[in-house]
Amino acid sequence: MKKRIKFGGMAKCISYNGTKIEKHYRHIFKSDKYVIELLKEFDLLDEMLWNKTKMAYYSKDGLYEFGTPTSLLKYKPLSFIEKIRFGFSVIKIKLINDYKKIERYTAEQWVIKNCGENVYKKTWEPLLFSKFGNNKDKISMAWLWGKIKLRGSSSEADGERLGYLNGSYERLTQKIEKYLLKNNCKIKTSEEVKSVSKDGRKYVVETSNESKEFDYVVSTVSYDISKKILKDVLSSEEINKMNNLKYTCAKTLLIFSKKSFSPFYWINIGCDYIPFGGIIEHTNMIDCNEYGGAHLIYVSNYMDKNDRLYALDEKQLFEEYNKYLKEIGNGFDDGDIIELKCFEEDCAQPVITTNYSHNILDIQMKENGIFMANMAQIYPEDRGMNYAIKMGYEVAANIIMNERLD
Ligand SMILES: Cc1cc2nc3c(=O)[nH]c(=O)nc-3n(C[C@H](O)[C@H](O)[C@H](O)COP(=O)(O)OP(=O)(O)OC[C@H]3O[C@@H](n4cnc5c(N)ncnc54)[C@H](O)[C@@H]3O)c2cc1C
Repeated sequence: MKKRIKFGGMAKCISYNGTKIEKHYRHIFKSDKYVIELLKEFDLLDEMLWNKTKMAYYSKDGLYEFGTPTSLLKYKPLSFIEKIRFGFSVIKIKLINDYKKIERYTAEQWVIKNCGENVYKKTWEPLLFSKFGNNKDKISMAWLWGKIKLRGSSSEADGERLGYLNGSYERLTQKIEKYLLKNNCKIKTSEEVKSVSKDGRKYVVETSNESKEFDYVVSTVSYDISKKILKDVLSSEEINKMNNLKYTCAKTLLIFSKKSFSPFYWINIGCDYIPFGGIIEHTNMIDCNEYGGAHLIYVSNYMDKNDRLYALDEKQLFEEYNKYLKEIGNGFDDGDIIELKCFEEDCAQPVITTNYSHNILDIQMKENGIFMANMAQIYPEDRGMNYAIKMGYEVAANIIMNERLD
């Protein structure tokens, strides 16, 4: 059951000029096989656009293309020796097959040991900041390994090809919804689940509207919400593991502009004084004519819930960001802005600390009919729609197995 009126969760869309667009930037990788299979099942695979995208790094010396062997050679923030060390460290990471060997190190420790501090500061630190905000120095090397090793298949010598579903991923969620309704599933998007308790062999689910009995309960919400809803049916060990996890919140500013911001799809910010982590220009992946000629620019920021920026509305947030956007963008002018939107998510990104594998919950809880499948259980891969779908299949397989054993 979902609290919101529409399907989609963090992948939900808004309408702009009659076209749907996700509230947070969105792409998939060629290695995301579970989304790709699902798109195929719902006859949408032919409508995937796989476009080349360029990535850049912004430092106080300027904007540099980053992410391909050629761009590395031209990358001024690193010396020749540092470029070689960086290149070798990427090869070394790709040769590691067992992430458990490196999960006890933070990415910061591992990269500095293997390439030196300047390489860390000018390459991976901005990426970690753009994903984890001020928790960047706590992140396990296993997470970075997952990014480099598992995502490699989207990369080509001259850049990366990222996938976007023409017309937005809402087309997929709508097809799934139709399919479920046709197959006698009941979907209640406007009821909030409050608690789950046990009554004999059944589980009683209490929502904002009603109370109902079920044989199985699958929680796909964050640990922070799950531990409140499921407190009567989880073991103290399971609750402790949930308490050990910290999330960062996401605050995304979406700018609709008359002009393009830069030639890059993704810019990681490598300056301490800039209060956001990344700029993702969606219309450098998808043609702006899909949106009536408007350029769609997401300014991404991960932060703690008590960060003062988290409570700001779109105008206030833009005021905070404007002078830095002018500094980075190619003639960026607030006069070109058509519209601003901002969106936030409380539990947007689990903070993947060292030895994270010790803290992960299985999909099946100790209580036999209770299952949990959320982004905190995705590891060492990075959270994403692909792994949410994969976990969905795993839960279904577990329930089918349980039924057979019964
Ligand atoms: C800024 C940002 C950018 C991202 N970019 C990408 C990307 O490019 N590609 C990609 O693959 N992934 C991306 N992701 C990750 C992706 O959005 C998530 O992996 C995916 O949404 C997880 O889906 P989910 O169903 O597990 O959880 P969610 O999307 O969080 O859905 C949980 C649902 O539960 C509902 N809910 C909460 N509490 C209750 C309650 N008490 N009762 C009933 N319902 C409740 C919520 O309203 C929500 O609908 C991004 C995430 C963020 C934050």
